[in-house]
Amino acid sequence: MSKPKSEVWKYFDKKMNGNAMCKVCGKILRTSGNTSNLMGHLKKMHKLPSVINNNKKEKVSTI
Ligand SMILES: [Zn+2]
Repeated sequence: MSKPKSEVWKYFDKKMNGNAMCKVCGKILRTSGNTSNLMGHLKKMHKLPSVINNNKKEKVSTI
């Protein structure tokens, strides 16, 4: 597992000193080398679980 870029970087701008700015709300977050903070922010603040889950949502038709 060595993805060069995470999906979260669609929503963040990389700043100096390992910080990242949320493109949605403009908040600066510390990444500390990983993106779990960023993912948590998106999930908690912006309700974007689709960023975290790469699972395909299967539409189940019940008809
Ligand atoms: Zn934000």
